[in-house]
Amino acid sequence: MKLGDWTFRAFHDGRFKLDGGAMFGVVPKVMWEKHHRADEANRIDLDLRCLLAEQGDRRILVDVGMGDRWDEKKRGVFAIERRPNQLVAELAEAGITRESVTDVILTHLHFDHAGGALREGEDGQLEPTFPNARHWVQKRHWDWAGHPSERDRASFRRDDFALLDEAGLLELADGSGEIMPGVRVTPVSGHTPGQQVVEFHTGQGAVAFVADLIPFLSQLHVPWIMGFDLNPLLTVTEKKQFLTRAVDEGIVLVFEHDPVHEAATVTFTDGRFRPAEVFTLADGPKGGGA
Ligand SMILES: [Zn+2]
Repeated sequence: MKLGDWTFRAFHDGRFKLDGGAMFGVVPKVMWEKHHRADEANRIDLDLRCLLAEQGDRRILVDVGMGDRWDEKKRGVFAIERRPNQLVAELAEAGITRESVTDVILTHLHFDHAGGALREGEDGQLEPTFPNARHWVQKRHWDWAGHPSERDRASFRRDDFALLDEAGLLELADGSGEIMPGVRVTPVSGHTPGQQVVEFHTGQGAVAFVADLIPFLSQLHVPWIMGFDLNPLLTVTEKKQFLTRAVDEGIVLVFEHDPVHEAATVTFTDGRFRPAEVFTLADGPKGGGA
């Protein structure tokens, strides 16, 4: 999808599964299973979608999937479905080398968003997957990931990330604002302290990567919130604030985990937020902007 002098494309690092109940918190299964089919272990599909935004010399990747370094046991627990190096391979097939990525914006450091930032090099040592990219993280989240709670410790592979810092590739964003011309980050902390929504304001419309604030299209409905969230009432407030603005400004939302629906615009009708138009970034909305 083209907007102004920006181009937006989706890439994937494969798929995995998580417990459906954990993805919907207090929402009864009889309601969420109309949107998400559960397997025999009650797990539902999650995509590992990443957004590539390009303008001029800038090549910005938002989130990088879970990466390669998973043993058999974890592959089974999470039903990981991906080919080796999937994200890097998909980018290469589109003519994009990992060296050419100028910026990686990490919404947060949970394994399914940031695991792909590091890879095993030819010498068997860990190395940054995108060796020339600045890696942006909220400072508050960086601090949290270094000392997570017992409840969310399993979501981090925290030792890994020191390497980004040691390589001089780490950029800490402090709060909301523009980190590059047209690129705005907004902390949303209900899911985890200092998660950030990433927005691209092109002058001809905006695109937002909403990460774990709204992982699935079905979760546009405000009370449909993940059981993983550390502070679900804060998520309610943050979702309402963000979605109100998304309706007013006609922002295109890109969903990281929805296995079917890639992007949508939003409307508020009959007392709740709903999709206005659902589309892929390759097709763009019929309403224009493609
Ligand atoms: Zn997360």
